[in-house]
Amino acid sequence: MIVCDFCGETKDCLQKEIEGKEYDICAECWNPLAQKLKGKGRAKNRETVFLPPRTFKEREGDEPKPLPGEPPKIFGEVERPH
Ligand SMILES: [Zn+2]
Repeated sequence: MIVCDFCGETKDCLQKEIEGKEYDICAECWNPLAQKLKGKGRAKNRETVFLPPRTFKEREGDEPKPLPGEPPKIFGEVERPH
């Protein structure tokens, strides 16, 4: 049993790397956090991958605008299971 860095309770904690730091975090604290982090990562990807068809057509007659570069990868390590 390890003391959770987030709620301070002694529980079965997972060791997670968040923003380059390691935390002992219990499942109860980790789940909402993981979803938050996931949401952040996916939202940007969706914009790039799934272009709505209408936007595509509007751009055909227009000058093709360069897409913004890759979004900065911040939480790349978090989703990898240890
Ligand atoms: Zn906790």
